[in-house]
Amino acid sequence: MHIVVTNDDGVFEPGLLALARALRQIPGSTVSVVAPERDWSVSGHVKTLTRPLRAWPVQLEDGSEALATDGAPSDCVAMALLGLVPQPVDLVVSGINPNANVGHDITYSGTVTAAMEAVIFGVPAVAVSLEREGAPLGQLDFAPAAQVARRVAEYVLRRGLPEEILLNVNVPHRPLEALQGLRVTRLGRRVYRDALVRREDPWGRPYYWIGGGVPEGVAEPGTDIGALAEGAVSVTPIQMDMTAYGVLDDLQGGLEGLPGPWETGGAA
Ligand code: MN
Repeated sequence: MHIVVTNDDGVFEPGLLALARALRQIPGSTVSVVAPERDWSVSGHVKTLTRPLRAWPVQLEDGSEALATDGAPSDCVAMALLGLVPQPVDLVVSGINPNANVGHDITYSGTVTAAMEAVIFGVPAVAVSLEREGAPLGQLDFAPAAQVARRVAEYVLRRGLPEEILLNVNVPHRPLEALQGLRVTRLGRRVYRDALVRREDPWGRPYYWIGGGVPEGVAEPGTDIGALAEGAVSVTPIQMDMTAYGVLDDLQGGLEGLPGPWETGGAA
C-alpha cells in the first residue's frame, strides 16, 4: 500500500513528520512525502499553471527522505499523482495541521484542498487537523492525532471510500486516553470575527489587514465543532459535488421559465 503524505504548513513542520511516522507503522505500507517548502496555510485550492514547479529531495528530522516543492499543497498532490513518486498511490493523507479545519474553513484550508486534489484524481484522501485548544504552537504533541490518523487511514485502505468523497478529520489536542471517542459529523457553522484593519504606510497610503482574531464556532451536536467541544475526534465526509440539490427544482421552475435575453433581444 503506497501512501502519499503532504501538508500545507511546510515540509519541515512537526505535524507532517508525526503523520508520516504513524502511517509507516501500517503493516505493508510505503510512505512518500511530497510537501511545500513554505507555509501555504489558508491558501485555498491552487493549481499552478503560470510558472514552472521545482521539486528537490530533503531529509526530515528522523533522517527519512522527502520531496520539497515550491508549489501549493494541491500542486504537491497533483505532481505526486502525475508521476513524481512511484505509482500507483492508494491513499493521500494531508496534515497534521496545527489548527482545526471545521465548517467553512475547509474552503480556505490548504490541508483540506490537498485532499480534494487527490479525490479529483480518483485517489481516496484524508485531511487531518488538530484542535489545539489554546496550546502554544511550539508545544504541540502531534502523536495522539497521528495515531488517530493511522486508524482512519487503515480503515480507508481496507474499505475504500465512495468516489468524490474525502474524510476531514479533526482531533482535540489531548492524550489518547483523554479523547472522548470518535464521531462521524457534518460541517458546523464557523463564526468568523473578521474586521478590516486600516493602517498607513510611511508615505501616507492606506493598507489593509483582514484582522479580527481567531474564529469561533457554533457547538451544535452532530457537527464537527460539536464533537470537538465534547473532546471527541470528528470525522466529516466531504463531497466534491457542491450542487445544492434541494434548490434545483425550485430554481428550474423559476429561472428556466423566464424569457431569456436571447428571446427578447436584450430588452427587459
Ligand atoms: Mn496549515
